[in-house]
Amino acid sequence: MAPVLEVRNLSVAYNGSQALEDVSFRVQQGERVAIVGPNGAGKSTLFKAMVGLIHPLSGRVEAKGAGFGYVTQRSAVDWTFPVTVHDVVMMGRIGKMGWLRWQRLRDREIVRRSLEQVGLLEYADRQIGELSGGQQQRVFIARALAQEATILLMDEPFSGVDSPSQEAILEILEHLRDQGVTLLVSTHDLNLAVERFDRLALLNRRLVAFGTPQEAVTPSTLAAAYGGQALWRGEDYALVLGDIDCCGETEHSHE
Ligand code: ADP
Repeated sequence: MAPVLEVRNLSVAYNGSQALEDVSFRVQQGERVAIVGPNGAGKSTLFKAMVGLIHPLSGRVEAKGAGFGYVTQRSAVDWTFPVTVHDVVMMGRIGKMGWLRWQRLRDREIVRRSLEQVGLLEYADRQIGELSGGQQQRVFIARALAQEATILLMDEPFSGVDSPSQEAILEILEHLRDQGVTLLVSTHDLNLAVERFDRLALLNRRLVAFGTPQEAVTPSTLAAAYGGQALWRGEDYALVLGDIDCCGETEHSHE
């Protein structure tokens, strides 16, 4: 089967320092891919290059269908901007509406259905900044649905989100497959990636491994992606990632 997405020999540099080097992989329609790697591995850069926000040094990205929906990291959004949940999702329709055209009944209906799908219809008139982090992520999933995106890219959607909200997001993402939506999610949570995704891309500037979690996660690929910081605990993919420069959650004890 032809892939819905193909990244070929992608290299990206910022001011001469290389953030991605010769990254290639293919994704089939409906697959859920976790992009995993340490801080600075190039995960955000990969997404930005895929949607055309930055120009690669070389390589290409080929996508079939109506295109990408891109959900940036929470920190990249100004949450004080006064806009309602409904309006954020309606922004997904703008490309479809064209310039100088009023919202049609159909646009409103699609927005309503998208909000319903993520369980937030009753929040339509709230300000986006009033919602919890997990709910905000769901609003942006609804926006991508309204946009009729066929490939959804989400950058660290679980960071700063409590575990019931994480579960709610994961369940929504699992249903997207039924609609043929392909999903790429970056996360620093290797266990989550192994347990809940079909494919795993281990990234550290280069693509260290790409495949099913069983194929992609081995002692040697972990060592290549994380250096000496990953500990392998046997065959069950119980992984301990200690002391990684990530997320500020690790506590260190000093005597
Ligand atoms: P990740 O999302 O995996 O944490 P990034 O894609 O944000 O990684 O960053 C990859 C590398 O590129 C890092 O070394 C980072 O410092 C660098 N980088 C990212 N964005 C920029 C930028 N706008 N200008 C210069 N360097 C950048």
